[in-house]
Amino acid sequence: MSCVLVTGGAGFLGSHLCDRLIEKGHEVLCVDNLFTGSRQNVTHLMGHPQFEFMRHDVTFPLYVEVDQIYNLACPASPIHYQYDPVQTTKTSVHGAINMLGLAKRVKARILQASTSEVYGDPEIHPQTESYWGRVNPIGPRSCYDEGKRCAETLFFDYYRQHRLDIKVVRIFNTYGPRMHPNDGRVVSNFVVQALQGRDITIYGDGQQTRSFCYVDDLIDGLLLMMESGSDFVGPVNIGNPEEFTMLELAEIVLRLTNSHSKILFKPLPMDDPKQRQPDITLASKSLGWKPKVSLQDGLKETIHYFRGCMNA
Ligand code: NAD
Ligand code: UDP
Repeated sequence: MSCVLVTGGAGFLGSHLCDRLIEKGHEVLCVDNLFTGSRQNVTHLMGHPQFEFMRHDVTFPLYVEVDQIYNLACPASPIHYQYDPVQTTKTSVHGAINMLGLAKRVKARILQASTSEVYGDPEIHPQTESYWGRVNPIGPRSCYDEGKRCAETLFFDYYRQHRLDIKVVRIFNTYGPRMHPNDGRVVSNFVVQALQGRDITIYGDGQQTRSFCYVDDLIDGLLLMMESGSDFVGPVNIGNPEEFTMLELAEIVLRLTNSHSKILFKPLPMDDPKQRQPDITLASKSLGWKPKVSLQDGLKETIHYFRGCMNA
């Protein structure tokens, strides 16, 4: 049994990761400032002998003793990361510096939750890890994209300069239960709108694409990466390569919810990537990882979760 720190552990992905680590017999220290996460996401773990919650902002140093660190702290939806962009960059950059410093002091392995946003609005398709990306450094998404890019730089400099045991995962759009209903991400928006009979808001003409990974598959990928040999540091793409236009996604959600909501076209936000699909050859070769859950099955679970939230 080892003691594992999960920053951002009360968020959507972090809370699922805490569940799985506890199931595997680890002690979990969940650190979160509750900006976008909530106690509710981990209520079921409170009082568990292997679980501890600490309210803390990773932009400040943290002194704890742990064996492994998953660094997930950072708002992930455009609405939330653009709410206080300076704090978003600080969370990615100062947060990485603080967590890398901690890893160095206690000699812990550390995994960074990076993102497909490091590829920006990509010119190559699907995106491979060797692609350097096309990111606007001064736009509304830059606080997140450049913050995450700088965090990757810090991870690789600590690796080269201090021989730190690092792992970098580039996460592509992931969805599932415990997504924040109002965080503005497309899957939660469409499902909640369909269930409430409100208009489905498609930004732009709906021809832009994303590839959606179900949360359980994503967590499998994070755990496999953390347990992989120390010579494999990444970055590695983790995501589901099945690609859909936003119009197709809206139609699937309408069908699965039996909703009569209408589609409403709204302006496309600035710098919105036109297409996104992970090349997962590296994850499949190096980790033996492949997603198992289809969009249809994952959406059914997600719809079930949001129905429960509305009836609660
Ligand atoms: P989320 O917003 O649900 O979770 C982020 C968590 O970090 C929240 O609990 C929030 O309160 C916490 N947090 C934010 N700033 C903090 C700070 N300064 N100190 C301590 N805690 C802080 O989002 P998520 O979808 O669970 O994303 C988790 C991680 O995965 C993020 O780093 C995100 O960039 C990355 N990621 C997610 C996706 C996705 O599709 N879900 C895609 C790419 C990357
Ligand atoms: N989107 C949309 N309607 C919504 C929310 C999002 O059409 O109500 C679009 C958005 O413009 C983008 C895609 O869905 O093209 C994915 O958006 P999300 O915010 O979920 O993730 P990201 O853009 O960060 O991949």
